[in-house]
Amino acid sequence: MRIALFGDIHANLEALEAVLADASTQGVTDYVCMGDVVGYNPDPVACIAKIQEMGCPTIKGNHDEDASGSHSLDSMNPIAAAAMKWTREQLDDDHRLWLRQLRMVRQIASFTVVHSTLDQPAHWNYVTNRFDAMANFSYQFTQVCFHGHTHVPRVFVKSDKVSEVPAESIIIEKNAKYFINVGSVGQPRDGDWRSCYAIYDTDHQLVVFRRVEYDIAKTQAKILAAGLPQSLAERIADGR
Ligand code: ZN
Repeated sequence: MRIALFGDIHANLEALEAVLADASTQGVTDYVCMGDVVGYNPDPVACIAKIQEMGCPTIKGNHDEDASGSHSLDSMNPIAAAAMKWTREQLDDDHRLWLRQLRMVRQIASFTVVHSTLDQPAHWNYVTNRFDAMANFSYQFTQVCFHGHTHVPRVFVKSDKVSEVPAESIIIEKNAKYFINVGSVGQPRDGDWRSCYAIYDTDHQLVVFRRVEYDIAKTQAKILAAGLPQSLAERIADGR
């Protein structure tokens, strides 16, 4: 199997379509969505519709949770909160119901997927170093676990100790565990504006990261036309 793992789409339809088009040229047989389908960008409804149509396993991200609830957004930064308020206004009851029923953690074939981290997935902790990764590994019972949430592709490996290796093509070695962040489709934050996702080739035990260009000017124009904060249009160009 060649499985595409893609998430943090954040309502960026142009980025999502570009990633799916790229995956179709890479012999991908299966798809898994890593959550945060909505939030920040201007196409929450179209992105939900696309994922529903694909029918692929999808896990819940924090923005999916926020968009499908009615709780206060006071703890969010003001720009994310403004975008979330707008996002909530776009969704109907069916969208909310679909987002609400998404699970936090799933096992797919031999691997696990979670949006943030396996220790307390509902707390939405960010894994930014090997100490954060250590906490995850205590709860990781499959050899490989994929996640997202920080929008930065990263690979943590646990053998006799926990270390980080560059997020390039990696071979899954027998006596190690892997906690792999697949990056973000719709709002990358590693300084590279191009959409990021990963392909797991289970026959060859190989994970490759892909970067995909998309029509960013179109997305930026839609952000402004929707009345969303201008900084959201700027940050996707900066990859921050
Ligand atoms: Zn996200």
